[in-house]
Amino acid sequence: MSTKVTCRQCQSSFAAPPHLYGKTVACPKCRAPIAIPQPVAPAPNPQLHFHEVRRADHFSILAPVTPLMADKIRQDTGPSCNIQFTDEEIGSRF
Ligand SMILES: [Zn+2]
Repeated sequence: MSTKVTCRQCQSSFAAPPHLYGKTVACPKCRAPIAIPQPVAPAPNPQLHFHEVRRADHFSILAPVTPLMADKIRQDTGPSCNIQFTDEEIGSRF
């Protein structure tokens, strides 16, 4: 697996292999230094789950899903948080 990086100097993009993660290398095109980031690790919290919503983005998902989130929060009256969403609940809003 590689990670995509873009040179700030010439805007060229290329795939950096894992042995370059965390290092600074010269851009293959213009030789400007490029810092290769460490890939973000998956969340270690087993209770955290991400739902893919194919017909939405960061902006369009808020309005349809916010009432669902509010209902779940109101109904969650236990001593600790126990809120879960299903793909169907979220997907039905789109
Ligand atoms: Zn460059």
